[in-house]
Amino acid sequence: MKKPKVVVLGAGYGGIMTTIHLQKQLGVNEAEITLINKNDYHYETTWLHEVSAGTLHHDRARVSVTDLINKNKVTFMKDTVTDINIEQKKVILKNNQEIEYDYLVIALGYESETFGIKGLKEHAFSISNINTARQIREHLDYTFATYNNLEEKPEGMMTIIVGGAGFTGIEFVAEIANRVPKLCKEFDIPRDTVRIICVEAAPTALPGFDPQLIEYAVTQLERKGVEFKIGTMIKECTPEGIIVSKDDQTEEIKSKTVVWAAGVRGSHIIEKTGIENNRCRVKVGPDLRAPGAEGVFIVGDCSLVINDETDKPYPPTAQVAMQQGPVAAKNITTLIKGGTDLQTFKPDLKGTVCSLGHDDAIGVVFGRKLFGTSASAMKKVVDNRALFLEGGPGLLLKKGKFNFF
Ligand code: FAD
Ligand code: NAD
Repeated sequence: MKKPKVVVLGAGYGGIMTTIHLQKQLGVNEAEITLINKNDYHYETTWLHEVSAGTLHHDRARVSVTDLINKNKVTFMKDTVTDINIEQKKVILKNNQEIEYDYLVIALGYESETFGIKGLKEHAFSISNINTARQIREHLDYTFATYNNLEEKPEGMMTIIVGGAGFTGIEFVAEIANRVPKLCKEFDIPRDTVRIICVEAAPTALPGFDPQLIEYAVTQLERKGVEFKIGTMIKECTPEGIIVSKDDQTEEIKSKTVVWAAGVRGSHIIEKTGIENNRCRVKVGPDLRAPGAEGVFIVGDCSLVINDETDKPYPPTAQVAMQQGPVAAKNITTLIKGGTDLQTFKPDLKGTVCSLGHDDAIGVVFGRKLFGTSASAMKKVVDNRALFLEGGPGLLLKKGKFNFF
C-alpha cells in the first residue's frame, strides 16, 4: 500500500516540534516524513535580538537540523519553498522541483511588517533571521570602527534608532544599551557621542503589559542612556534617517542605523496559496487545519488562533508555536491511522518574560510579577526549556544559558 506523504515546511519552533512528535508517533512503514527548511540549521528566533546587538555569537543561537531529527525516519531537504499548489497538493521549491503531499504542515514563521511605510524596506534593518541579525551586528561594528577614520562625520552617524517598543524593540534596545559602552571603549569613542533612541507610536512602551513593570523597564533603560520617544509614529525612513510625527508635528532624526522592530506578519507564501488570511496569518480550525485546504495544517506565526475568553487572537509567540507542533503531529497521526477524533488546540500560557539585557528582565509568570535578577533567571529557564524540548539534555548542555546571577 502507498505510504502517505507528510511534508513539514520550516524548521523553526513550530516545524521542529511537529517533526519530532511525528517521528515518535509514526513508524517508517506508516508514513514518509519530509522536512523542508531554507537553511540546514534551526535557530532560536527568541535569541535574535542578542545576535543582532552582538551580545551573543550566532553559532550559539543555531543548531544543525539533522542533530534534532531522526534521519532514519525523516528526510531533510535544505531548500526554499516558493509556492504551494493547494489543489494539486504540491509544494514548489526554488529550483522548480515539486514535492507532493497528502498532509502538509506550514510552519514558515514570520516576516517583518512595514505597514507600507515609505523607505523602511530599503533603508532599515530588521531582526528576521540569523542573516539579518548578523548584518545588524556587522553594521554596528563597522560604524564604530569607521568613526575615528573620518575627518567629517556625517550627522547622525552614531545615532541608533529602534522602531517600536514592543517586546522585540525593548529586548533589542536593552542589548544595544549594554553593548554600546563596550564598543565605545574598544574604538575610543566617547559614550556621549552615541545616541540610542527607541520610537513607539502607542502612548506607552510595551502596550498592554503591566504598567508597574513597564515603568521599571523604561527607567532601567533610560538609566543606561536610551531615549524614548513615546506616542511618536515613524512615517518614513530615508538614507539619512527617519521622519517621525507626534501631535501633528513632524521631525527628522538623522541616523545611519535604523532597526525596524515594530511588527510582524506571517510568511508571504501564505498569500500565494489563496487560503483566506489576514496579514499572511490563517485563522485555523480548533484542530489546526486550514479552512478549505484538504490535509493542510498551519502552526506558529503563520497561524491565527482566537482566544475565546477575549475574542482576540493570541499573539504570535514561540510558546504557542511549540505547543501547536505536538497537536498537529497527533492529529496527522490520527488521520493516517484512520481515526477521526482530532485533538483541539488550547494554549496553556505560563506567562511572559521580557529580557532587559543578560542580567535584567521583567515578567508575569503564573500571574506573579517578576523583575530584576529573578525575572532574568526565569527568562533563562524559559530559553533552556525550549532547548530541552527541541534537542533533549544534549542540546541544553551544549547551548543552554546557565549564568543565572
Ligand atoms: P520561526 O521560528 O521563525 O521559524 C520559521 C522557519 O521557517 C525558519 O527556520 C525559516 O528559516 C524557515 N523558512 C521561512 N521561510 C522559508 C521558505 N520560504 N522556505 C523554507 N524555509 C523557510 N516568543 C516567545 O514566546 N518568547 C520569547 O521570549 C520571544 N522572544 C522573541 C524575540 C525576538 C527577537 C523575536 C523576533 C521574536 C520573539 N518571540 C518570542 C516570537 C517567536 O520567536 C515567534 O513567535 C516564533 O519564532 C514563531 O515560530 P515559527 O515556528 O512560526 O517560526
Ligand atoms: P509587536 O507588534 O508586539 O510590537 C510592535 C510595536 O511597534 C508596537 O508597540 C507598536 O505600537 C509599535 N509600532 C507600530 N508601528 C509603529 C510606527 N510606525 N512607529 C513607531 N512605533 C510603531 O511586535 P514585536 O515586538 O515584534 O513582537 C512580535 C511578537 O513576538 C509578539 O507576539 C510578541 O509577544 C512576541 N515576542 C515576545 C517576546 C517575549 O516574550 N519576550 C519577545 C519578542 C517578541
